[in-house]
Amino acid sequence: MNCKIAVLDGDGIGPEICAEAIKVLNAVAKKYGHNFEFAHYDIGGCAIDKYDCPLPQHTIDGCLSSDSVLLGAVGGYKWDNLSGDKRPEKGLLGIRKAMGLYSNIRPAKLWESLADASPLKSELVKNGVEIIIVRELTGGIYFGKRERGTDKNGVEFASDEERYTVPEIERIMKIACELASKRNKRVVSVDKANVLESSRLWRRTVHEYAMKNYPDITVEDVLVDNMAMQIVKNPAQFDVVVTSNIFGDILSDEAAQVTGSIGMLASSSLGDTKRGLYEPIHGSAPDIAGKDICNPIATILAAAMMLRDSFALTKEYSAIENAVKKALDDGYRTADIYTDGMKKVGCKKMAEIISENI
Ligand code: NAD
Repeated sequence: MNCKIAVLDGDGIGPEICAEAIKVLNAVAKKYGHNFEFAHYDIGGCAIDKYDCPLPQHTIDGCLSSDSVLLGAVGGYKWDNLSGDKRPEKGLLGIRKAMGLYSNIRPAKLWESLADASPLKSELVKNGVEIIIVRELTGGIYFGKRERGTDKNGVEFASDEERYTVPEIERIMKIACELASKRNKRVVSVDKANVLESSRLWRRTVHEYAMKNYPDITVEDVLVDNMAMQIVKNPAQFDVVVTSNIFGDILSDEAAQVTGSIGMLASSSLGDTKRGLYEPIHGSAPDIAGKDICNPIATILAAAMMLRDSFALTKEYSAIENAVKKALDDGYRTADIYTDGMKKVGCKKMAEIISENI
């Protein structure tokens, strides 16, 4: 297969982790006879330095003319005090919008060999945990009407509107159902339907949509406050979870924490086409940039998700996942996941070991 992959290295550790993910993709290409072509474009702080803009037009054009996009991370101390429009994060929001991405998929996976890294008791996580949170990304309260003012009695107020339409809920539910159909055919939908009208519409729509389009999928509802408890009480009970923008934002960070290390978790953002944006969930880690000590696994797993979800290369996805598992089972650890008795390696070495395992 021939695939054109746009690479947005970004700032801080971004270029290091992208280079190592490319190393692993090249090992996959060699073994399975594919041709992956990589084109690099600037985003975030490095783009501000060169073009005075966090998302230059040629970066957008490059992404839109590629088959899929791999992103490192953006941001750093140097650009912390710039005004809103010039900030590196603006590049991220811009590229998601330009690519029409409305879903964010974050698998929070705890590898059995890293069970010690979880803050939860070992009996809760010893058999591994994998919660795949499908978060709606472009609607709800983060994009609703905002108001701030003073009422007729002189009392200052602010409000943010949570608004969802049926098509917005249906399209995110489709992504959740597609994922669940390749897994255990069960979707947990999280809402606050006991209080919020928008959640009552959400609940009705996810059930109607699944019943009509994916009759073999079971949909269960969990209230968001209960979900926050269940993630720490019994995380292994969940698989695919679908929820709104704000609930997904909060719950996906909670689920990530259960797995122990931010350096291990990948995410993808998808829209109506197969072209997605794949990235680690962590930021640009400026405190450790350029030292060859960061963990490249989150970005390597993001690249694996790209192979599976953009290019339907499921065998190759599993090859990367198994190669990561073997590296961990063999005791190799970057500094962030290191414990006594393990073999400490740097970023490049970890990717080299994973590539050799492919
Ligand atoms: P961060 O995720 O960059 O770092 C948090 C902590 O985790 C740091 O101690 C860092 O060293 C460590 N860490 C992160 N990734 C690691 C890895 N792969 N291996 C080992 N350790 C790792 O979050 P932060 O410090 O809050 O933010 C730093 C910069 O990143 C800021 O400018 C922020 O705006 C930006 N950021 C970008 C994104 C993104 O590009 N998607 C996401 C979050 C934060």
